[in-house]
Amino acid sequence: MQVPAYVEYERATSVEHALALLARFGPRAQVLAGGHSLIPMMKLRLVQPETLVDVGHLTELRYLTVTGSVLRIGALTRHAELLAAPEAGRHFPILHDAERVIADPIVRQWGTVGGSLCQADPSEDLSAAFAALNATMVITGPDGTRAVPARQFHTGPYETVVAQGELLTEIQVPITPGAGSAYEKVGRRVGDWPVGAAGAAIRLDGDVIAAAGIGLAAVGAEHFAAPEAERSLIGAQAGEQALARAGQIAAEHARPVTDQRGPADYKRHLASELTVRALRRAVARARAAGRSAREG
Ligand SMILES: Cc1cc2nc3c(=O)[nH]c(=O)nc-3n(C[C@H](O)[C@H](O)[C@H](O)COP(=O)(O)OP(=O)(O)OC[C@H]3O[C@@H](n4cnc5c(N)ncnc54)[C@H](O)[C@@H]3O)c2cc1C
Repeated sequence: MQVPAYVEYERATSVEHALALLARFGPRAQVLAGGHSLIPMMKLRLVQPETLVDVGHLTELRYLTVTGSVLRIGALTRHAELLAAPEAGRHFPILHDAERVIADPIVRQWGTVGGSLCQADPSEDLSAAFAALNATMVITGPDGTRAVPARQFHTGPYETVVAQGELLTEIQVPITPGAGSAYEKVGRRVGDWPVGAAGAAIRLDGDVIAAAGIGLAAVGAEHFAAPEAERSLIGAQAGEQALARAGQIAAEHARPVTDQRGPADYKRHLASELTVRALRRAVARARAAGRSAREG
């Protein structure tokens, strides 16, 4: 059985304390949240921090709350808590769709939303979901906080704009009345990472698409998004023809690679098919949301 190399351990008791520890131990320190990505990577010796700064017990970063027209999710919120939160499901069914198919209940009990995003695995489901929703990431460091759009957060595989000494502290998602969203994923088996996945968020004006967000995971989409496909939808009738065209464009711009989860051409097919399925369900949910808003 693989074991990690020797490592020092520091348990942070507040965000301030965590930042002080990160400053004290410098570049050889690494943040530990739920540990479900970091510990396996340490076991494989893919990363070898000298000090782990454990933020996993910071309850001050573990919340879901609606402030005005924004859903705010603390970075230490566990997958299971996001899945159980009615305000998340009500405003953003895409988040519940995605959480239902992320790993298994044990991983979801420990894995955190912030850890998922900071891990920046190209197959991470939440990265695609938050890209579709055009969320904002709040990063806290010694000089205060800064806000970064979800589509600028990931700079490459396993890389984000979170600098050494900083923490991702919050994810903010704008609530759009009458919008609909959905997530579709194909994995090799239940609880597995996606072979391909797509998320969609749609706002309708009558039956015309007024706004569209498309997120993709595991198919080599830059920044987990499909902006060309989104643009093709704006102003179109929310019918099968427009959705099929968007799926085709999303697939054309995806850059999947062949790996143990599947061949590149199959993943490209999934990029198209899952985009269409996610859009279809997002449109249906937007129509239902519009109806219930009209009925008061
Ligand atoms: C068996 C298994 C199956 C899985 N299946 C899926 C799946 O189907 N889909 C999917 O999307 N994911 C899947 N995952 C991944 C899982 O969702 C993530 O590993 C997990 O949520 C990462 O969160 P964590 O809190 O455990 O992060 P950690 O492992 O603690 O940290 C991950 C990385 O992020 C950094 N980090 C963590 N929190 C912060 C922060 N607040 N600020 C700055 N840096 C931070 C750490 O330093 C580390 O580099 C699976 C994992 C396992 C073990």
